[in-house]
Amino acid sequence: MALIVIVAAAGAAHASAAQGDSGAQQRRIAVVIDDFGNNMKGTAQMLDLPIKLTVAVMPFLPSTRKDAEAAYRKGHDVIVHLPMEPVRGKASWLGPNAILTSLTDEEIRKRVEMAIADVPHAVGMNNHMGSKATADERIMRIVLQVCKEKGLFFLDSRTSYKSVIPKVAAEVGVPLLRNDVFLDDVYTTRHVSKQIEVIRQHLGKHDSCVTIGHVGPSGLITSGALRGAIPGFARSASFVKLTQLLPPPTGLDYAGETQK
Ligand SMILES: [Zn+2]
Repeated sequence: MALIVIVAAAGAAHASAAQGDSGAQQRRIAVVIDDFGNNMKGTAQMLDLPIKLTVAVMPFLPSTRKDAEAAYRKGHDVIVHLPMEPVRGKASWLGPNAILTSLTDEEIRKRVEMAIADVPHAVGMNNHMGSKATADERIMRIVLQVCKEKGLFFLDSRTSYKSVIPKVAAEVGVPLLRNDVFLDDVYTTRHVSKQIEVIRQHLGKHDSCVTIGHVGPSGLITSGALRGAIPGFARSASFVKLTQLLPPPTGLDYAGETQK
């Protein structure tokens, strides 16, 4: 009995030391940054933030490989940022080989496999846009089936409240995470700071928060606001990569774990 107590105490001491905290239970924040791969504004500033990120890289673009390699070298998680058809929006925003609802099953599978092969070190996937495609069960069943075959998890960016991703991911058995807070849907420091406050409130009710920001037009604003906010979370939360939020592998099917 005494031995068990000592081991447990040592374990707790180790855990709190690793978190740089005096023992209070740590909440976890996973910052995901979308739209890497096209030499976007803020790329270097995001990769150099003093926290671990999840870096979502679009396939088939000029700096796809370079950005994925740089993120991997810095210890960030790399995921494929798969372009998917929105209800509204210009086709030019989607980039090459996007997943469109007009494509055949074979063509969708081919494009998803090519996208994964094009982004080195990818351990997961999320959707770029996709309010139309993520509401389509035929499309999502193929996308998630390929993820399962390649051992990738999926992050539902939740660009549509009609997303079928939770239902289909549970059926296919793919580990699923979901976005809680969009950081920079408006490109101002004021808005991003407000969203950081939303993260703080979310953590009052939940153990973890997944938040999505972007390189591009908001890249410098968002990276600057994050850099400023990081010290304020030191006592209450730790920044983690998405893979650290996945349920531990049990050797059983994931489906039951991913229902929520
Ligand atoms: Zn995107």
